[in-house]
Amino acid sequence: MAEKTLNPFEIVQSQIKEACDALGETQEVYEMLKQPKSCMEVAIPVRMDNGELKIFEGFRSLHSDAVGPGKGGIRYHQNVSRDEVKALSAWMTFKCSVAGIPYGGGKGGIIVDPREMSKGEIERMSRKFVELIYPVIGEKVDIPAPDVNTTPEIMGWMVDEFCKLEGEQRIGVFTGKPLAIGGSLARFEATGYGVALMMKEAFRVKNIDMKGATVSVQGFGNVGRFAALYAQEMGAKVIAVSDVSCALVNEDGIDIAALYEYVNIPENKNMIKGFEGAREYDRDSIYDMKVDLFAPCALENSITSETVKRLDAKIVVEGANGPTTPEADKVLQEREILLVPDILSNGGGVMVSYFEWVQNLQGYYWSFEEVQEKQEVKMVNAFNDIYKLMEERNVTMRVAAFMMAIKRVADAMRCKGWVK
Ligand code: GLU
Repeated sequence: MAEKTLNPFEIVQSQIKEACDALGETQEVYEMLKQPKSCMEVAIPVRMDNGELKIFEGFRSLHSDAVGPGKGGIRYHQNVSRDEVKALSAWMTFKCSVAGIPYGGGKGGIIVDPREMSKGEIERMSRKFVELIYPVIGEKVDIPAPDVNTTPEIMGWMVDEFCKLEGEQRIGVFTGKPLAIGGSLARFEATGYGVALMMKEAFRVKNIDMKGATVSVQGFGNVGRFAALYAQEMGAKVIAVSDVSCALVNEDGIDIAALYEYVNIPENKNMIKGFEGAREYDRDSIYDMKVDLFAPCALENSITSETVKRLDAKIVVEGANGPTTPEADKVLQEREILLVPDILSNGGGVMVSYFEWVQNLQGYYWSFEEVQEKQEVKMVNAFNDIYKLMEERNVTMRVAAFMMAIKRVADAMRCKGWVK
């Protein structure tokens, strides 16, 4: 059976529709949420190291600012598209709503493969991008952060560029900054830590002891590596991880702390290939692992109507944004595999971004433990509320999460007189 759509924007629209129907929401609410409020497209001229001028295409989408300023990362990837950025901005609205933080949703992206560029070229492109989207971002307007292939270092250049244009230190305009210029402790680890916390909750409701439970993780970027690291710390046995270079398997558990060190060695270029503590397979073998829990922490459209057939897991916890297609969602539901949805399970990043912003605005900084404690309380509460709603309404956890998110945004829109 061919997949109906792999277009993330159509997928998010179908998720909004399903939740609006389950809530009995008005057509007006659906119409307001089914597309972003605005989406800016920019052409970014960059002088390359060889003297040539190259133009890159970039976007910043503000999906909704009903609850508060827009919030969401900036992605550098060759597969970025206008529809992808629009979809990701919509997921951010609902993610912030589920997290219970006072933001709407935004997202940015540039169509580029940063692995083919020098550091200087990336810096010039990043600064120029900020200059171009300057009119639509701001500390109380729309607040970007890191996403796929963007780092605290890049946030540092961006906030510098913004503050120059502003003529004022407004560091809360970007989150995920380096610590030395107003970043928050525990932000770098936050998304992966949150994914691991959600694994722990999922094991609890499924009555599986996390000590010794088997886990496979797809993706070893900022999300996957910390998800794996913390899952292992919490007692799980991470028996497989993958990235673009390969899949690594070790039934006795991969030493994730050692793998983390390994990918950070410059010659290894952030890739897991060549690590000695496990066997190497092609990257898609990650779908064939028999595990208690599978965590897709890479990109969209990982679990499709095809790959879902290969999965043998009791739980799926989404670390990536939009990794499961609606058709695969149905299959997981039929097979009674518990799916903890992205807008809940990877919300730890934006939650700690919110803490960073709060610290920036008050100019007073918290300890690592304080940040992680606050994150844990908020995420575990959100899990419990959504799980309860799922049971009450007999829907999937994804539909329950969307219902909760949409209700909050709809209430805000009603209070502002935008919809009936
Ligand atoms: N890019 C992350 C996400 O997709 C974090 C966004 C943020 O911190 O604003 O949730």
